[in-house]
Amino acid sequence: MKIRVEGLSDTPLHLMAREPVSDFPALAKLDEDGECRFLCPLHLDFTIAREFDHIRAHGHVDTKVRFTCSRCLAEYDAELCTEFTIFYSKTSRVPVEEEIALSEEDLVSVSYEGDTIDFTNEVAEQVLMEIPLKPLCSEECKGLCSTCGTDLNSGECECARSGAGFTFSALKDVTVKK
Ligand SMILES: [Zn+2]
Ligand SMILES: [Zn+2]
Repeated sequence: MKIRVEGLSDTPLHLMAREPVSDFPALAKLDEDGECRFLCPLHLDFTIAREFDHIRAHGHVDTKVRFTCSRCLAEYDAELCTEFTIFYSKTSRVPVEEEIALSEEDLVSVSYEGDTIDFTNEVAEQVLMEIPLKPLCSEECKGLCSTCGTDLNSGECECARSGAGFTFSALKDVTVKK
């Protein structure tokens, strides 16, 4: 997704867009690799304005993603929503007068060439940062029994009551205390 810089003024231009995930190669690859599945397009809602010697894009991107829990292997859906502020300048340098304010927020500073700004990489990057390395259906997910494979979220298995299960929970306690 690109925008022409020429017509931009210091009055923020409000943009809303629905962009198919296939337009974002880095995200499409995640989907292809089976890391997660995008259930809807990216919904972008942001403003863009000329400010000092740079262009400021600020807003949010949201989408819905299906993950596979890394503990119990169940699929679950999650809404991803992330807010971003991106500075585009002819040089990649962050404007001096804003350096202090910048450290307080997660800001991205990028340089652009010519007369158009392409948001694709930065927007994809924002979404990527929201994708968990080890997706969990819930923080409390009990996972699968390492002995019989029962989903422990749906109840205890026989192993928990046998000696094997005892050893397992003792080990688990040690891990928790570390
Ligand atoms: Zn789980
Ligand atoms: Zn078991």
